[in-house]
Amino acid sequence: MKLLKSSICFALAAVIFVGLFAGCGEKKEVINTGERQDTWITDTPLELTIHYSHSSGGPFQDDYSVFQEAARRTNIILKGTVPQSNTEHDQSFNTMIASGELADIIATKKTNFEKYAEAGAFVELDDLIDQYAPNIKQFLDNNPDVKRNAQSADGKLYFIPNVPDGEAAAGWFIRKDWLDKLNLEIPQTVEEYHDALLAFKNGDPNGNGVADEIPFFDRGKTIKSILALYGIRDGWSVADNGEVVYGKYIPEYKEGLKQAAQWYKEGLIDAEIFTRGSNAREQLFEENVGGSLHDWFTSTTVFNDRMKESVPDFNLIAIEPPADINGERWEDTSRATVDVYGWGISSTNSHPVETIKYFDFWFSEEGRLLYNFGIEGEQYDMVDGKPVFKDEFINCGKTMTDACWENGMQLMIGAPQDIEYERQWMNEDSQAAIDMYTNGGYIKDAFPVLAFTADEQKVITEKWSSIYSSMVEYEQKCVLGNLDVEETFDSHMNDLKNMGMEDVLKVYNDAYQRYLSN
Ligand code: CA
Repeated sequence: MKLLKSSICFALAAVIFVGLFAGCGEKKEVINTGERQDTWITDTPLELTIHYSHSSGGPFQDDYSVFQEAARRTNIILKGTVPQSNTEHDQSFNTMIASGELADIIATKKTNFEKYAEAGAFVELDDLIDQYAPNIKQFLDNNPDVKRNAQSADGKLYFIPNVPDGEAAAGWFIRKDWLDKLNLEIPQTVEEYHDALLAFKNGDPNGNGVADEIPFFDRGKTIKSILALYGIRDGWSVADNGEVVYGKYIPEYKEGLKQAAQWYKEGLIDAEIFTRGSNAREQLFEENVGGSLHDWFTSTTVFNDRMKESVPDFNLIAIEPPADINGERWEDTSRATVDVYGWGISSTNSHPVETIKYFDFWFSEEGRLLYNFGIEGEQYDMVDGKPVFKDEFINCGKTMTDACWENGMQLMIGAPQDIEYERQWMNEDSQAAIDMYTNGGYIKDAFPVLAFTADEQKVITEKWSSIYSSMVEYEQKCVLGNLDVEETFDSHMNDLKNMGMEDVLKVYNDAYQRYLSN
């Protein structure tokens, strides 16, 4: 990777000259964007500041190669305003808002746009898009759901969203080598799945003479996947009758929770399910005790290669979702995200027209290529008219996201993702798993990103967090056997009601009705 990076730097040095210009008594660094291009938005170089910070990827870096290339093509140069030491998204956003000094371009979550659009921090984008952003306009016209998810409660757009591509992202995995050892078929239903885990627990598939197997585990510290087998969707969802419901506040939850507690009692669920956390896969596979899980395809399919030496028989396979208690196979996780990110124009930006044109560049054919694949000849080559990542880029020894982010690709800016970029990073197992879930039609519609009015937001702020804490606490106590579901469920539901759950439900249903009518 070192080699690659230096070659990128070298290539950039050839096209981008950084000079010092003295003006009005202060020295200002201006990036020379090179020869005039047809795609230039402005004749004189325009520098815009950007507030961007991602909790994993860090703050915007001025020398991202992809943004340098965008500067060459648009004559607009972005300068990050978040200090490199600041890695927390909300904190950096709140600091900027509190300072009153807004960057020209602000990248953040939808909820932040909503909160501060009412206070006048952001420019309304609808007219600007109509007049100056044909690519964005066309994209939103072709993808009305994307538009609805980005709209505020007043029906207006204050940011251009980041648009994830593809559906299938996560699913079920089980140790095929253990199934084989115990002469078991791949489980097809919740009952068969339960019985396979029970056999893992009692049949000593790792062959060490000790019942140390941990049949089911989850690094997300949650039993949501077990509940799914009992027909319960995680979090907010739209019920068959069109009403918005919450998975931990529906009658069916009682049976699901009872079953989960039973599975836990039988030793099928990791005793440390609520505490083990993110390294669960590494830990439990390395110790050859983990049997099954529900997790992301791309990051989980790599374990067969990784375990080759320490556990030679290790064979983890993705399986179709076992049919739930109602006989339905389905998958809750999809790529459509709960937290919608994007970028908007601050009200102090004196170049809104140039800025929306710059946003539009990222939705053009060349902008999309740059966003998803980087720079031709650097990260990818065109092969038969299609961008194909160079081997040395894919095999740079870094994760896909790290390798992309350090070049400025795939940031959470307003741009459309092309799933093909991720496919090229995947191994065959992961591609096959994604095809299995996509072709099976298992993935449920993601819950829409709702927009709340100030009054509605107030209800949520006042009531939701204590309700949610109570739900989580109750669930954990039940699973761990500290509370009996049969004895306590009704009074728990009543507690939630008294805490205002019905008010929160109403807010969600009102916002959902508004979403449908947009
Ligand atoms: Ca054992």
